[in-house]
Amino acid sequence: MSHVAAANYTPGRVPPASVPSLLISQRPQGRTSPRRPMGLEHSTQHSPRTPAGHGNRSQERVGARQRARPSGDCSPGPHLRLAPTPPLELRSRRAPRRQAVAEAGQAGRLLRLGEAQRSRLLLSRSHARMDPALGIAEPRVDEKAGSPEREPAPWQALPVLSEQQSGDVELVLAYAAPILDKRQTSRLLKEVSAVHPLPAQPHLKRVRPSQDPSCPHALEMLLCLAGPAAGARSLAELLPEPAVDPRGLGQPFLVPVPARPPLTRGQFEEARAHWPTNFHEDREVTRALAGQLFSAQERATMHGHMERAVWAAQQAASRGLRAVGAVVVDPASGRVLATGHDCRGAARPLLHATMVCIDLVAQGQGRGTYDLVPHPACSFAPATAPQSVRVGSVRKLDEDADGLPYVCTGYDLYITREPCAMCAMALVHSRVRRVFYGAPSPDGALGTRFRMHARPDLNHRFQAFRGVLEAQCRQLDPDP
Ligand SMILES: [Zn+2]
Repeated sequence: MSHVAAANYTPGRVPPASVPSLLISQRPQGRTSPRRPMGLEHSTQHSPRTPAGHGNRSQERVGARQRARPSGDCSPGPHLRLAPTPPLELRSRRAPRRQAVAEAGQAGRLLRLGEAQRSRLLLSRSHARMDPALGIAEPRVDEKAGSPEREPAPWQALPVLSEQQSGDVELVLAYAAPILDKRQTSRLLKEVSAVHPLPAQPHLKRVRPSQDPSCPHALEMLLCLAGPAAGARSLAELLPEPAVDPRGLGQPFLVPVPARPPLTRGQFEEARAHWPTNFHEDREVTRALAGQLFSAQERATMHGHMERAVWAAQQAASRGLRAVGAVVVDPASGRVLATGHDCRGAARPLLHATMVCIDLVAQGQGRGTYDLVPHPACSFAPATAPQSVRVGSVRKLDEDADGLPYVCTGYDLYITREPCAMCAMALVHSRVRRVFYGAPSPDGALGTRFRMHARPDLNHRFQAFRGVLEAQCRQLDPDP
C-alpha cells in the first residue's frame, strides 16, 4: 500500500489497495508462539464480562472466547486481538508460482462475483483484522520493511538531542599571552603545558594565530584557566619560575574559551570562533541533524508504523477519547507488537497511549496489568523468544528467565504526540530503544520541556526523533 493510498485511508474501512493482501489473509491467524499469552488469561480474569470465581480459568477463557465470537468465526476473538500477520511473511511460505496462481484464481473468482457476494467474502477473509462486534478494520500496514518504491514522505525525522548536545557553547575565562618570539614557541608550549595541564579541556589548542592582523606578534598562547576571581595578572603570577622561563611571552590577557568539547558541528563552529578547538565528530549525529540518517526504505517503514498510530488515535477519537495513538515495533523483525491509544478517563487517569502500549507489550509476554478489552483497537502480538536464545546460552541482563526481552528492550515506539514526563519515565523503565513522535506537546518530556531520554543521571537512555507525519499528527489532538 502506498503511503498516498494510506493517507486517504478512512478508519473503519479496508482501503481498496489492500484487497490483494486480504485475498491471502484467510489463513487463521492463531498464536505463533508456544507460550500461552498470559494477557489473555489476565484480561479474561478481570473482564467484567466474566464473573469472578465462576468455573476454572481454562473454562472461563474458552467460554469467554466462544461468547465473544460470532458463529463461524475462527479468529482469536477480542480477548486476544493479535496484530495482523505481515502479508510478506505469508507470501514467503508459499512457492512463488503457486502463490501467484492461487491469487490470480481467487482474484478472478472475486471479479465474477456480485458486489454483495464479493464484500461478504472479503469480510469473512479479513475477520482476523476486524473486531467482530464493532467491525473495526485495522489499517493495512506492511509490518515488514516498507517498499522501496514508495515516494519520499513530506516529513523529516529529526533527532531530539541531549541538553549537552543541543545547548549553547558554555564559555569560561582563561589567560593567554602573545608570543613575541616565535622561536620560543616549542619550549614555551612544553613548559606551560607541564605547569598548567588542562585535563578537563583536552579540546582546547594551546596556540592560535593572533586575532588582530595589526598586532606585531603572530601567535598567542593559552596559559591557564582564570577561575572565579579573574583579574589582571602578571606573567610572574601565572607562570612560576623556574618551571617556566617566560622569555618570549608578552603581557597576559583574559579570553573566553569553550568549557567543554563540542558535540555537534554547530557547537564546534560556535566554539572555534572563541578559541581553536578540536572536534571528534559523531557522524551519526551529523547525518541525523541533516535529515540523512534514514534511507528511503526506512522512512517508508516509519511512515507505515506512524500511519498505524494515527489510525489508533482516530479510533480513540471516535470513542470520545483523546486522539493519541501509538505502536510498538520490533525493528529487528519488523513485527508490530502492540497498537494502542489513549484510554484515560476519570476512573483510570494514567492510561496514556504510551502506558497502554507498554502494558500491551507486557501482555504479549504473558504479563501486563490493564484490562483493555473494552478498547478493541488496542491489540498485541504474542512475544517470541529471539532465535539467538538457546538453552545453555548466557542470558543477558535485559532478558527475563524465559529468554524474552525485558518489556520493550530493543523495541521502537511510534506515537502521534510527544510523551509526557510520566510516559517518558515509563519508557526509560521499559528499556525502549527509540521513540518516534509526530507532534510536539507543550508538556512533552522528549524535547519540549524535558529531555528525559538523554539524562546522564538515569540508568537507561534511548534515542528520540520528532516530526514523523507531523502534519497529520498535529491535526489529531491540537493544543488548546
Ligand atoms: Zn503521558
